Amino acid sequence: MGMIASKLQLVQSRIKQACLKVDRLPDEVTLLAVSKTFDADAVREAFSAGQRRFGENYVQEAVEKITALADLRPQLEWHMIGPLQSNKTRVVAEHFDWVHTIDRLKIAQRLSEQRSPHLPPLQVCLQVNTSGEASKSGVAPAQAVALARAIAQLPHLHLRGVMALPAASADAPTQHQALREVRAVFEAVSQEMRHEGLVLDTLSMGMSADLEAAIEQGSTMVRIGAAIFGARGPRALDGA
Ligand SMILES: *Cc1c(COP(=O)(O)O)cnc(C)c1O
Repeated sequence: MGMIASKLQLVQSRIKQACLKVDRLPDEVTLLAVSKTFDADAVREAFSAGQRRFGENYVQEAVEKITALADLRPQLEWHMIGPLQSNKTRVVAEHFDWVHTIDRLKIAQRLSEQRSPHLPPLQVCLQVNTSGEASKSGVAPAQAVALARAIAQLPHLHLRGVMALPAASADAPTQHQALREVRAVFEAVSQEMRHEGLVLDTLSMGMSADLEAAIEQGSTMVRIGAAIFGARGPRALDGA
């Protein structure tokens, strides 16, 4: 078995164990393999091992990979999980299936306008910033419901849930608290949207280091890079 296949298996068993521990079904948690900085061959290897959903952060790099792997479409699902500038929305609307990082109405409007009506709607999550650090991407929790309502009106987007990237903490209670705050925003937004007839099913949180804690706090989609593909170079987490 290749290195990526065996690491994938390990991550799947971590997910399963984490679910068992808190009485959740492993089917409730989707594994998104974060392939940023790794090449198309690495994605192909993960695909051969059964992985179908991939997350990317950098638009240009992603489009090159998506194009190189066109033969595997439509079995592959591509998720944009990096910060998104308005001059990149067209390319994203044309190539991706999901966008996790919507934190402004303007970006959502552009994506909806630029999404071809011949494609399925773009599946989107609101990125929320629960840490209160102004330097971080994400809508403030107090504005999340209003933004969700506005996005739900856009014809070529389908709002699926909430995404967050809480600061990593070596202290378990601090880590759990941060994840719990994200979940609270997800629940508040979900409740409001349910009144409008829209069911949100995605809470995108948890990475290689905190997937167990995230699952314990209700994550339905974990975004795992290093634990599958190996350590990345210095171009780190959130870069543009
Ligand atoms: C890189 C990245 C991940 C994956 O992080 P790992 O620590 O490699 O698992 C998840 N989410 C986002 C938004 C990322 O940028």
